[in-house]
Amino acid sequence: MSNNIFLTNKAPVLSVVIPAYNESIGIERAVTEIISILLGCETEWEIVVVDDGSRDDTYQKICRLAQSEPRIKAISLSRNFGKEAALFAGLEHAAGEAVITIDADLQHPPILIPDLLEKWKQGAQIVHAVKRVRNRESIEKKAAAYCINKLVSGFGGINTNNSSDYKLLDAEIVDIVIHQLPERERFYRGLTSWLGFKEEYIYFDVDSRQGDNSKWSFLALLELAITALTSFTSLPLRIVTVLGIATLILGITVASEAVWSFMAGQAVSGFATTIICLLMIGSFIMISLGIIGEYIAKIYEEVKKRPLYLMKSSIGFGEKPALKTYDSGYKRSEMR
Ligand code: UDP
Ligand code: MG
Repeated sequence: MSNNIFLTNKAPVLSVVIPAYNESIGIERAVTEIISILLGCETEWEIVVVDDGSRDDTYQKICRLAQSEPRIKAISLSRNFGKEAALFAGLEHAAGEAVITIDADLQHPPILIPDLLEKWKQGAQIVHAVKRVRNRESIEKKAAAYCINKLVSGFGGINTNNSSDYKLLDAEIVDIVIHQLPERERFYRGLTSWLGFKEEYIYFDVDSRQGDNSKWSFLALLELAITALTSFTSLPLRIVTVLGIATLILGITVASEAVWSFMAGQAVSGFATTIICLLMIGSFIMISLGIIGEYIAKIYEEVKKRPLYLMKSSIGFGEKPALKTYDSGYKRSEMR
């Protein structure tokens, strides 16, 4: 517990976890800037950079930094597993009593690290950095973030509006996230908002991305949106029932009209109505199957129990760290 550390006067160790994918252009600047802030915090620290299968020389650059500063550690994943997996890998390897997750592109201002730390020292176990304005983000990114956050907040019952992956987690929370939330399909932002515990918020303006464009493709964002939604609510499945009821009402209406026409001695009007009904019912069935399919796909991912990531190499952890998959029986304390 964070509070005990201060009672025993032991200097806490702060870990800063940075997921990086093809960040060759800016990784050195980002790490240097983060270090300059950390040096101003009166606490011991380490930086854990997770290279998420970059195809450029991001990892080589991190290794060079790690050779000159032993507090910089790095893990290289065997391929690109996505930011969620990279964050998880970082959390598993972070030894600190508090862990900060921050992007490698300086869109999360490192200047806030002392504020996050301060809130933690005051007893908060999770400190969320919340985006105040996102003016400098692209329109698609803003729209995608808006939809994801609205869907998860509206249907999932947790507030992720304007939240970011820039957070501080107490070691106790990190342990919970690693060991007690067994799902493979992860939405870090949502999970950390779902936990409860003592939370605090600080606000920041999103800076322009340093280096090139966002690493999220449209499909990756869509995948994240589906994961975010299916991880937190089964409401879309209920929509299937609603569609079924709507089709039933439509059927009854059309049938009543046919009976009415028959009673009135008119010819039952027909072809267009039949086609419209068929098309509508057909599309409702397809949408429903699609929604059910999404959930089945997620169940399939979960039951396969594949590890969230595979590690290729690492630097700065002393002895060779074991391959830390979720089911490897790995304990965080072994790394300390
Ligand atoms: N990232 C990652 N794996 C990926 C995509 C992104 O580790 O597959 C990292 C990326 O290097 C950056 C952070 O996640 O440090 C946020 O990525 P980006 O800036 O592209 O996303 P955005 O700011 O648009 O949410
Ligand atoms: Mg970014």
